[in-house]
Amino acid sequence: MGRAEVLIVGGGNAGISLAARLLRDGVRDVTVVAPQPVHRYKPLLNYVAGGEASMTDLERPMAEVVPDGCTWVRDSVVAVDADALTVRTRGGRTLGCSTLVLCPGLVEDWDATPGLQQAYADGWAASSYVPGSTPVVWQRLAPLRSGTVVFTVPPEPASCAPTALKPLLMACDHWRRAGVLADLDVRLVLPAATATGIPEADRYLEETFAGYGVDVLREARVERVDWDTHALTVASPAGRRVLEDVTFAHAVPHYRAPAWIAEAGLAADSSPGLVDVDPETLRSRRHPSVWAIGDAADLATRPSGGALRKQVNVLSKNLAAAQKGKELHRYDGYTVMPITVGRRKLMLNEVDRDGRPSPSVPFLDPFVPRRWQWFFDRYGLPQVYWRRILRGRV
Ligand SMILES: Cc1cc2nc3c(=O)[nH]c(=O)nc-3n(C[C@H](O)[C@H](O)[C@H](O)COP(=O)(O)OP(=O)(O)OC[C@H]3O[C@@H](n4cnc5c(N)ncnc54)[C@H](O)[C@@H]3O)c2cc1C
Repeated sequence: MGRAEVLIVGGGNAGISLAARLLRDGVRDVTVVAPQPVHRYKPLLNYVAGGEASMTDLERPMAEVVPDGCTWVRDSVVAVDADALTVRTRGGRTLGCSTLVLCPGLVEDWDATPGLQQAYADGWAASSYVPGSTPVVWQRLAPLRSGTVVFTVPPEPASCAPTALKPLLMACDHWRRAGVLADLDVRLVLPAATATGIPEADRYLEETFAGYGVDVLREARVERVDWDTHALTVASPAGRRVLEDVTFAHAVPHYRAPAWIAEAGLAADSSPGLVDVDPETLRSRRHPSVWAIGDAADLATRPSGGALRKQVNVLSKNLAAAQKGKELHRYDGYTVMPITVGRRKLMLNEVDRDGRPSPSVPFLDPFVPRRWQWFFDRYGLPQVYWRRILRGRV
C-alpha cells in the first residue's frame, strides 16, 4: 500500500466524522484504520442502562458509516514511527502517510481495580461504559426493591465521565416512582469533591443527590472488588471503607490511553499517556505532521462527543492551513456533559476550557435542566449524529 495523504487511527466518533469532513473539504486520499465491525453512538449507552433505549438503537455496521471514498483498513495499530510517519498493525501491515491523525480513544484499565473484571463476568457488576455488559444494568436495577446499590464515576482520563451519573439518576427516579427508594441504600463514588467541578452544575446535582437520599463518597476510588463476597473497597482521604453486601454495582472501570502512544514518544511525561498536542491547534508538540483529537488527545478539557464537533472543524481547517503555511485555527476547549436529573429532564452543562458557560443555543443557560433537552439528547441528537455528524456535515 502506498502513502495515504491522511491516515486516521480509530473509527469512532472522531475518526469517522473527521474522515467524512476531510473528504467533503476536498482531501482525496483518506484512510481510516479501525478494527471493529460495529460503530456505536456511545451517549445512548447511558439510556440503555437507564431503560430508555436498546443496543440496536446505537449500533451500526462499520461498513455503513465509513464514508464513500475513504479506505478502511480493518486492523489495529500496535506501533507508530512518528519520524517516518508510518504505523504498524497487529495484522503485520506497515502503512505510511503524509499526515497522521491519532484518535483511538481510551482503553479499559482492568488491572487498576483488581476483581472488577470477575465481577462483570459474574453479572454482579456492569455499566454503561462496557457495552457488552450494558443491557444487564437495567435488568438488574429495575426490579430492585431493597438492598445496597453502588454507582461510580470513573477518574480521568475517562470519556465524558460525569455522564456516568445518568444511570444513577434515572434509576433513582424510577425507584421513587415505584415507592421503593427509601428501602434502598444508594451510594455514589465520586473521584473528586463534586460531580462536575462546575459550581452551577454541582449546586443542582448536590440538591438532586440529597433529594434522592444518595450517600456520596467524595475524592474516592474503588480500590478493590471482592466479587465473590460482593464487596467494594473504596479509598478516599478519609480512609478506607468497605461497602459490604452490595446487591449490584454500576462500577465503571478506570481508563488509560493505549500504551503505543507513549512508546512512540508522543505522550507528555506529565500526562497519563495521552497524545501531547497543542490543546488549541490540535497539532503534536513534537511532530508537526502528527495531530490528535478525541478522548486520546491531551486537550486540557473534558473529552466528549459534543467537543468533537468543534475539534473536527478546527482540525480539518488546520490540516489545510498547515499545508498552505497559513495561520492555524484554535479550539476553545468547548465541551458538554449532559446529565439526566429527574423524570426526563436533562441539563446540558456546556462549558469552555475555563469552565465558563458556552451554550450552543445563544443566551440559553446550559445548567438549567429542561424536558425538551432530554428528548433532544435521547431522540434528536442520535439522528443528527448518524445523518450529519458522521457525514462531516456539522
Ligand atoms: C457511556 C458513555 C456515555 C457518553 N455520553 C456522552 C454524552 O452524553 N455526550 C457527549 O458529548 N459525549 C458522551 N460520551 C463521550 C463520547 O462518546 C466520546 O467522547 C467519543 O466517543 C470519543 O470519540 P473517539 O473517536 O475519540 O473515541 P472512541 O469513540 O472510543 O473511538 C475510538 C475508535 O478507535 C478504535 N481503536 C482503538 N484502538 C485502536 C488501534 N490501536 N488501532 C486502530 N483503531 C483503534 C476503536 O475501535 C474505536 O473505533 C460518552 C461516552 C461513553 C463511554
